[in-house]
Amino acid sequence: MKTLDCFAEALKNLSNLNLDYIIKKSHKAKRVSLKITSSGKLIAIIPYTYKTDLPIKKFIAEKKDWILKHLKPAYKFKNTTLDKNLLHKNFLKNKQLILQDIKTLVDYYAKFYNISYKKITIKNQSTIWGSCSKSKNLNFNFRIAYLPTQLKNYIIIHEVCHTLEMNHSKKYWSFVYQTTPNYKLYIKQLRKYEKNFFIT
Ligand SMILES: [Zn+2]
Repeated sequence: MKTLDCFAEALKNLSNLNLDYIIKKSHKAKRVSLKITSSGKLIAIIPYTYKTDLPIKKFIAEKKDWILKHLKPAYKFKNTTLDKNLLHKNFLKNKQLILQDIKTLVDYYAKFYNISYKKITIKNQSTIWGSCSKSKNLNFNFRIAYLPTQLKNYIIIHEVCHTLEMNHSKKYWSFVYQTTPNYKLYIKQLRKYEKNFFIT
């Protein structure tokens, strides 16, 4: 599996996502143009006389499809590490959207398993994807928003099922299996993402 497709994938999933970009002023430029560097950063080249970044935002919105198409190879080129600072900045910009997205999924699976929970917290954790406390508070690492949908869902299901069983017993996995028969494959796939997503 290509581990770094996740960023472009996440951008597609979260349609209101703001893209990060670096502004470069140019004496030669007559209009806005875009460039994506080999490390995956988006650069907006603008005429020297531009005073605000409004035209850039508009241009980026118009060219979103092009950007998404080209961000992917750029990240592939980098190949070993994801820009973790960019990921975190992107999260801070889209915190509400990400929380809402996760809450919608938690509520869906809570209904399926007929369970209740107390609170959802999105955290910036460096080594775990999620956790569930004895008092049924669910915690998720913000990075799950940037995973492919099936892996994000699995982590949510994993924690939701801990409200039924606070362990990893056979009984616990039988709950997970009800919605995610492929869970063993997903656990394997997540290990690859850990290398790229977690700050170690
Ligand atoms: Zn667990």
